[in-house]
Formats: sequence, structure tokens, C-alpha cells
Amino acid sequence: MEYIKSKVRDVIDFPKKGIVFKDLTTVFKDPRALHIIGWDLSQLYRDKGVTKVVGIESRGFIGGSILAFELGAGFVPARKPGKLPADTVSCSYDKEYGKDTIEIHRDAITPDDIVVIHDDVLATGGTMAAVYELVKSMNPKKIYVNFIIELGGLNGRSVLPADAEVTSLITY
Ligand code: AMP
Repeated sequence: MEYIKSKVRDVIDFPKKGIVFKDLTTVFKDPRALHIIGWDLSQLYRDKGVTKVVGIESRGFIGGSILAFELGAGFVPARKPGKLPADTVSCSYDKEYGKDTIEIHRDAITPDDIVVIHDDVLATGGTMAAVYELVKSMNPKKIYVNFIIELGGLNGRSVLPADAEVTSLITY
């Protein structure tokens, strides 16, 4: 994990003043780090019977796809409004400034699925809470929540449902 940490780039004041952005492009571009991420993520869920991984647009698509591939599961994108072509379910949530909406195809998850929802970073948790609600409304057997990085100081876990099983590879 120290190797992964050494590859995370802190970008100060991005996208706005006061934010320290955890940039994972410097992890993903490193072949060894990418390999470790794929292995470590998949080890968390190897024996859980996972059938679908939901990746959150857009940085969650990278780790989410790798995790799905490693587990032999399917991949489902959770996307910003108007991007998915077929019938969707959507959830609106509060961001620091105003509201945002996230969508999933209505037929993406079924009641026999065991799901991991993946994003790269847990910050305030609003985005993941919205996706969790969407996935929950589709009644899968089980939902796991996963991040590569958790920003512990922002306490994002507190806005996630108490029954959500949350796992992060690295906590700051
Ligand atoms: P959240 O505040 O947990 O809803 O985060 C919203 C999205 O922004 C997540 O998908 C994170 O990937 C991203 N994000 C928020 N804060 C940071 C940060 N400090 N560094 C990197 N990504 C972030």
C-alpha cells in the first residue's frame, strides 16, 4: 500500500481554492501500481459471489472495470444526467453548491445480483449515498461499497446508510 500511496499526487487548490485533490492518474499510469490496485481490490471481494460492479462517472470507471474483470462480474456505469441512452432511474443529491443528479439504466441490476459500488475517492459521501439509494431501489441481494481512497477527515461514511459495508484501500 505504501507503493500506491507514493504514486498518489496531491494537487493543491483543484478544482477550487482550499481543496487538496487526490489525483489517481499518477497511480493508474504506473503499471506496477495499477496491477496492485487490481489485485488488492479483487481480494476484498473474491469469495463474495459478486455479479455486478457499479462504477461512478468518471474516475470510478477505471478501478470499477478492473475490479469487475478480476471478479468475473459485469460492469454497470452510474452516469451524469442525459448520458445513458436507454431507460434510466435517477437520484438527485445535494452538493456543496446546488444539486446534482446521477443515473443508472433501469435494467442494469436485478434482484439476484450481488453488487459492489466503486468510486475512486470518498470525500463528503453525497455521490455514493445517491448511487447506493439507486442500486438499493433495484433490490439486489447484497450491496458492498468500495473506494480506493477515503478522506477520513471529511467523514463521508456518516452520510452512507448504516447497513452499507464500506471498504477503502487507503485512508488519509
Ligand atoms: P463526494 O464529496 O464524496 O460526493 O465526492 C464527489 C466526487 O468527487 C467523488 O467521485 C470523488 O471522486 C471526487 N472528489 C471529491 N473530493 C476529492 C478530492 N479531494 N480528491 C479527489 N477526488 C475528489
